[in-house]
Amino acid sequence: HIYLDNAATTPMAKKVIETMTTQMQSDFGNASSTHWFGRNARAVMDDSRAVLAKSINANPNDIVITSGATEANNTAIMQTAHARAGLGKHIITTAIEHLSVLKPMAQLEKEGFRVTYLPVNEEGEISLADFDAALDDDTILVSIMMGNNEVGSRMPIQQIGERLVDHQAWFHTDATQAFGLLDIDVDALHVDMLSVSAHKINGPKGIGFLYRRTGINFPPFLRGGEQEMKRRAGTENPPAVAGFAEAVRLITSQEKADRQAKYYGFKEQIMHALKAAGVDFKVNGPLKPDALNHVFNLWLPGVSTYALQTNLDLAGFAISGGSACTAGSLEPSHVLTAMYGADSPRVAESIRVSFGAFNTTMDIVQFSDALVKIVNRLRKKANA
Ligand code: PMP
Repeated sequence: HIYLDNAATTPMAKKVIETMTTQMQSDFGNASSTHWFGRNARAVMDDSRAVLAKSINANPNDIVITSGATEANNTAIMQTAHARAGLGKHIITTAIEHLSVLKPMAQLEKEGFRVTYLPVNEEGEISLADFDAALDDDTILVSIMMGNNEVGSRMPIQQIGERLVDHQAWFHTDATQAFGLLDIDVDALHVDMLSVSAHKINGPKGIGFLYRRTGINFPPFLRGGEQEMKRRAGTENPPAVAGFAEAVRLITSQEKADRQAKYYGFKEQIMHALKAAGVDFKVNGPLKPDALNHVFNLWLPGVSTYALQTNLDLAGFAISGGSACTAGSLEPSHVLTAMYGADSPRVAESIRVSFGAFNTTMDIVQFSDALVKIVNRLRKKANA
């Protein structure tokens, strides 16, 4: 079986598993306990937090460990809106955010907040003119993802950050998909809050962080104990946090650049194979070296997402019809719908292939081969 669904989740790196195994065996203490066992667990938390902070040029005290990006997004959005409702009721986001952003937004609309969903073009990109038109004195929060999980488009985070320097609105970005591929500097980007999940970068599942710049204050989303500097209650998970930090250590700046280049090459390899075989297709989203290149979304006219996915699965290739979170629902992707309209056949005839650190050129050769055969077979059947 060949795994090409790395935007959904990634296999853990061997060193991450080793680090976590060691931690689980030796540092089982509660990090809040004051005895030797507790202090050891606390040291693991502190060392790891420093690594996580450095990876986005942040202060360690501004990193709040969470159960993942879902909790980080929910916390940033719900708590900001509730804490700042007295200053304004307007929030800006995009139409193609992850559901862990869109669902909190929908809830806030029910509570009386006004949410602007910036539209995207055919490459899944927003326009700064639309952003400027939406921003007003009532805006208290802007939440815009760094890069999209279904099509790999990137958003102009720095330009938006600069626009908000002298504005009351706090700026949150969901960097879950971008974190493993781009160098991120929260100061250069003028970002106030940023979400990350460890399992997208060969780390463990169920752990992530919310970066909260000093001065960005709101009550904890999870209430209880005084963990995470009183910002997130619940006993810490030092082995998972250590594994997260180990995964971050493995992805140096050079490694990120290498992966971006390698994944772009994979896209070219697949397109070359499809063209050589005369299979007609279109790319959904951006096709440029500085997009999030691990995500490759393809339209194969005339064949359904479901047929492609199940036939590829039978042939031993794990890909996705969109985001894994909505995979079970058979609902059309809100991302492709925002890009091409609900009536576009693309919405029901596309697949997402996503590359990871462990994929090889040979994987892509075999995948391309299988895709050509399956598309040809399905098209023949449709025309019979
Ligand atoms: N945001 C984006 C862009 C994502 O791709 C994901 C994972 N699919 C999440 C948030 C949520 O991450 P998690 O499920 O690990 O909380």
